[in-house]
Amino acid sequence: MDSWWSLGDWSGFRGSELATNEIVCPFCGERGNWSAEFSAQKRQPNGYKILHYDTLKCGSCASFVQAFWSAGSGLHDFRVQPWPLKVCKAPEHWPEAIGRYWLQAKRNIKDESWDAAAVMARSALQLSLRDQGATGRTLQAEIDDLASKGVLPSLMRDWAHEVRALGNDSAHPAPSQAPTEAQDARDIVQFLDFFLEYSYSLPKKINDYRARRSTA
Ligand SMILES: [Zn+2]
Repeated sequence: MDSWWSLGDWSGFRGSELATNEIVCPFCGERGNWSAEFSAQKRQPNGYKILHYDTLKCGSCASFVQAFWSAGSGLHDFRVQPWPLKVCKAPEHWPEAIGRYWLQAKRNIKDESWDAAAVMARSALQLSLRDQGATGRTLQAEIDDLASKGVLPSLMRDWAHEVRALGNDSAHPAPSQAPTEAQDARDIVQFLDFFLEYSYSLPKKINDYRARRSTA
C-alpha cells in the first residue's frame, strides 16, 4: 500500500462497515466488545473514498483504542492502536497444528522461557517440513530431503539447520548444558516467522492475486 487512501481497496475484511468483531482489546483481551465513543471522517477530494477515525471503548474494561479504517468496493481494512502485545492467534491460512506450536514459541519468547521457545520453534519447523512432504528418519534428513526436492532454497535449508541445532540442545539436554541465550531464541523464532511466511503466506498471496486477475 503506497497511500493511506488505498486502505481497504485490495485486501482486508468483507463488507463496508468496520469489523469490530475482529478487534481484540489490547488491555483485557476481550474480542469485539466495542462501542463508538467518537467518530470523524475525511472524504477524498474529488473521490469517493472516506477515511474513518473512530475512537472505540471496550465494554469489558472501559479502555479506548483508535481505529483508522476505510472501505473499498466490498472490502474494508483497518489499523488499530494500541494493539495487543500478547500474540493471540496464528494466521488463519497456516495449518492449525503448526500455528499452535508457533504461537507457543512466540509466547515463550514473551515469557522469557528461552529453552522452551527453542523447543517449540524446532517442533513447528519439523511439523511444517512434514506438512510439505519431507521424509527422513531425523529432522536433519527431513531438512535435506526438502532442500534436495527444491522446496527449500539453500538459504532456508541452512537456517533450518540452525533452528534444528539450537532446538536439539534444549530438547535433548545434557546435565551440564548452558541455558539457551535470549538473543539466540529470539533469532530462531524470527526465522520461524520468515519460514512460515515463505511456506504459507507467500503462496496464499500469489493465489489471491491470481484469483483476482481471473475474475477481473
Ligand atoms: Zn478491554
